Amino acid sequence: MSAKILDGKAIAAEVRAEVATKVAERRRAGKPRPGLAVVLVGDNPASQVYVRNKHKACAEVGFHSELHELPASVSQDELLEVVDALNADPAINGILVQLPLPAQINPEAVIERILPTKDVDGFHPYNVGRLSLRMPVLRPCTPKGVMTLLERTGQALEGLDAVVIGQSNIVGRPMALELLAARCTITVCHSRTKDLAEKARAADILVVAIGRERFVPGDWIKPGAMVIDVGMNRDAAGKLCGDVDVDAAREHASWITPVPGGVGPMTIASLLENTLQAADLAG
Ligand code: NAP
Repeated sequence: MSAKILDGKAIAAEVRAEVATKVAERRRAGKPRPGLAVVLVGDNPASQVYVRNKHKACAEVGFHSELHELPASVSQDELLEVVDALNADPAINGILVQLPLPAQINPEAVIERILPTKDVDGFHPYNVGRLSLRMPVLRPCTPKGVMTLLERTGQALEGLDAVVIGQSNIVGRPMALELLAARCTITVCHSRTKDLAEKARAADILVVAIGRERFVPGDWIKPGAMVIDVGMNRDAAGKLCGDVDVDAAREHASWITPVPGGVGPMTIASLLENTLQAADLAG
């Protein structure tokens, strides 16, 4: 078997086009552009690239977008003041504080300060709680993007065995909640999991979000499984690669995401969807 490629780049372009159409409809109805504010603290090069990509994507779909750059030395109170001002700004529907933050700042305190209605990353406990209760509003972007990819395979997800490797607050945990809401039977694995290979081999859907280059070998993949590789790593040669040995896994899977061009573009597409949703909810 050679897996079909789940082309995140192409699907994200479709999602962005759908968002752009809805923004144009809003404008025709006399409503303001959805507004996204991105707050970048310090000069982490990877964060700068992510923020630039988000800003560009906003412009393309017709959003108002603002970048607030703060020095790495900023205090938590100063950052919270910026969040408060954006919470109160009617032109801003979505606030995204790019992670990671410098050591003097508690990321949970910042996330909790963002109004849940403007939490377009979907990280606020309110939004994660809504997802866990099957009443989602703003859904965490990366898992939401993965669900969009899975839905666009056209395969029914109900009743499938889904295994998520990784339990971080931003990927693994909300991913498991999304799959549970889709009525999959879920297993969540992490660094203390016993018999990881055996658990992976039972997966109809395998989502890997660990952050270790080509960690999952081909023989961990159940024949016909859908494989989603969230990992984003650089190998010794400096090449971007995921957490799955894609070439080997392709021989067993039915669908598989490439890295790059799989989950990454979907995360930004979900952010745009969330910002539009937040604007629609605001009126
Ligand atoms: P993280 O916070 O470091 O979490 C990693 C998770 O993997 C933890 O739950 C950890 O278990 C688990 N883990 C680590 N080593 C393991 C092992 N040997 N066996 C089983 N589980 C293991 O990472 P993250 O933020 O979730 O990100 C994961 C990867 O996804 C990274 O490569 C990141 O760059 C990428 N990512 C991509 C996107 C995108 O848009 N494409 C978005 C976000 C993240 P413990 O909990 O037990 O420590």
